[in-house]
Amino acid sequence: MSDYKINTKCVQGGYTPGNGEPRQIPIIQSTTFKYATSEDMGKLFDLEASGYFYTRLQNPTNDMVAAKICDMEGGSAAMLTSSGQAANFYAVFNIANCGDHVVASSTTYEGTYNLFHVTMRKIGIEFTFVEPDCSEEELEAAFRPNTKAVFGETIANPALTVLDIEKFAKAAHAHGVPLIIDNTFATPVNCRPIEWGCDIVTHSTTKYMDGHGAGVGGCIVDSGKFDWMAHADKFPGLTTPDDSYHGITYAEKFGQAGAFITKCTAQLMRDFGSIQSPQNAFLLNLGLESLHVRMPRHCENGLAVAKFLKNHPKISFVTYPGLEGDKYYELAQKYMPNGTCGVVSFGFKGGRAAAETFMKNLKLAAIETHVADARTCCLHPASATHRQMNDQELVAAGITPDLVRFSCGIEDAEDLIADIAQALDKV
Ligand SMILES: *Cc1c(COP(=O)(O)O)cnc(C)c1O
Repeated sequence: MSDYKINTKCVQGGYTPGNGEPRQIPIIQSTTFKYATSEDMGKLFDLEASGYFYTRLQNPTNDMVAAKICDMEGGSAAMLTSSGQAANFYAVFNIANCGDHVVASSTTYEGTYNLFHVTMRKIGIEFTFVEPDCSEEELEAAFRPNTKAVFGETIANPALTVLDIEKFAKAAHAHGVPLIIDNTFATPVNCRPIEWGCDIVTHSTTKYMDGHGAGVGGCIVDSGKFDWMAHADKFPGLTTPDDSYHGITYAEKFGQAGAFITKCTAQLMRDFGSIQSPQNAFLLNLGLESLHVRMPRHCENGLAVAKFLKNHPKISFVTYPGLEGDKYYELAQKYMPNGTCGVVSFGFKGGRAAAETFMKNLKLAAIETHVADARTCCLHPASATHRQMNDQELVAAGITPDLVRFSCGIEDAEDLIADIAQALDKV
C-alpha cells in the first residue's frame, strides 16, 4: 500500500484479501492458536519463526489494523495497545528504565503528564518538562547524560499548542536519543511526524481514529529510522542480549525496522498484557476507513466555531491553531497545511462562573470527558479532567480556570454555532 495516497491507505491499507477470502477484516476471536508439534511452537517462543500463539501478546486482527496505521504514518512496524495511556507508557518504558531520564513537553495531555510526573517517577524514571515553544538553548539545557527520549504532542490536548517537530527532533538526535510524538489530535491524515524527523509515533486511537466513541485503544508506530546500534550504550535493552528471550539481541536480530516493536511486544506486552481486544480493533478499522473523510469536516467546523467565537463580546480568548492570528498558526501551516483538528479552546470574560453557566446551557454539544468524536462534545477541564492540578500546574499545562475545550464533531456548522450562541446568551 505504501505507494498510495493517505486516503487510499485509510480505506484499504493493512489487509489485502486473497481469492475467496473475506472482504472485511476477520475478527480472530481466539485466545490461542493450534500447532502440530511442540517444536513448531518452540520456534515461536524463541522468536525463530513468526506466528501467533497467545492473544495477550499478539492477535492477527490487531496486526492487520496496526499495519494500516503503520502504512498511514509511513512507519516500519506497529502494534496496537489497549489504550492511548498504554501506548505512551510502552513507548517510553521500552527504552527508559529505572535511573533514566526523559525530556517532555509541558503541555502534554493530562493523563500523560500524570503517567510521567507521578507514576513513572515511582518506578525511577525522571522527567524534565519544557515549554513546547522554549528556545533551543532551553531545550538543550533539559538534557542529562541519562536522557533516553524526548516526548511531545503534535497538537497538545487540550492546550492546542503545536510542537515544532523539527526543533525537537534536532535536539533529540544531537543527544543520540529518539523523538516520540503523540499524534492523536492531528492524525496521520493531517500530519505525519515521521516525515519531519520523529522516530516513534503514538496514538490514542480512542479519539479521531475510532471517531465514534466506540472503543478505547492505542497504537505505537516505529519509523525504523533510529539507529539503536549507533547509540548502543544508551539502549542496552535493544542492543544487548535479552536473557528473558533466549539471549536475543533485538537490534541485531530484527534490525532498525523491527527491533523496537518486537521488543515492545515480546517483553512489555508479554509482561503487562495491555492488548487491544480484536473486537475493538475491528471497530477501530471501521473508523479508519472514513478518517480521511471525517477529518476535513472536523477542521472545517472547528474553524467556523473559532471564527464565530473570536468576534463574540463575552469571549476573552480563542485558541485554535487553524485560526489566523493564533500563536501557533504559522507552525500549524507548516506541519498541517490541510487542517489541524476539530478542537477549539476558549475562555470567558466572566471567568470560571461564566464557563460553568455556558456549559449548563448547551443543548447539542454534550458534556463529556471525551474529545475528537463524530458528535460534538465539550469539557471544562478545571472542574473535570484537571481538577487535581493546582493553579500553577494548570497555567504550565496551558489551561486557565475559565477554559472550555470544545470538540467540534461532523454535524452542520450552523447548528453548532446556533447552540453556542444561545448558551452564550445565558452567560
Ligand atoms: C486521550 C489521549 C490520550 C490517552 O488515551 P486513552 O485512549 O484515553 O488511554 C493520550 N494522548 C492524547 C493526546 C489524548 O488525547
